[in-house]
Amino acid sequence: MRTMIRRAGIAIVAAALASVALADETHPHWAYDGEGAPERWGTLSQDFAACSKGHQQSPVNLTNAHAGQDVPLTLDWKPFAPMVHNNGHTIQASAIAGNTTTLAGRTYTLQQMHFHHPSEHTIDGKATPMEAHFVNQAADGKLLVLGVMIEEGAPNAEIAKLWDVAPQTTGDAKANADIDFSKLIPLGSKFYRYAGSLTTPPCSEIVDWIVFSKSVTASRDQIEAFAKLYPTNNRPLQALHDRTISIER
Ligand SMILES: [Zn+2]
Repeated sequence: MRTMIRRAGIAIVAAALASVALADETHPHWAYDGEGAPERWGTLSQDFAACSKGHQQSPVNLTNAHAGQDVPLTLDWKPFAPMVHNNGHTIQASAIAGNTTTLAGRTYTLQQMHFHHPSEHTIDGKATPMEAHFVNQAADGKLLVLGVMIEEGAPNAEIAKLWDVAPQTTGDAKANADIDFSKLIPLGSKFYRYAGSLTTPPCSEIVDWIVFSKSVTASRDQIEAFAKLYPTNNRPLQALHDRTISIER
């Protein structure tokens, strides 16, 4: 009897230590609903303060854009077979090195791309079923994110290659074919441009945002396949405050 009590005591101490270690090591849990919902992101951690206090947050409704200076955007992306991750927030493909994006003479490197359902940005108040984000980083850490609205229509061959291997639970898998990500970019389309943030914690205000006015398509089945995993992973629209939006072509 005495042995049992002692063992139980040890187990309780061990459990307490484990929970302390867990609290120290894990990031606060953020989500799209419940206790970690977007309205609470700013309170989950001091590191997430910009989510509630920032005045340059994303996404926004893209409307009343003024004519820009037609800044040149060029992509130098080659097809490759990416690692595809189900990270618990979205399906994300990692870029290999050497794919560059240039905006107005500034060079960025493609890091990763991922999806939201429904779209995060809206254009004149209109959302689309999905939005893809292509995250590019400059040498100084600043980001250029290209947003592509996805409408229901013809099946998308590049998305098909991602969905073929995308893990249904959290995990990683390598694509079994080269994917030409530039085919997911409506090049030649006008695009909106504004200064914004990451749309997930820590909501850092380091993003030069571009959202193309033209969309690409994915089939209803392709959209539903993503929605089955992530029915709602879009941050609500944020206030524009004193920012302006330009439209470039
Ligand atoms: Zn995103």
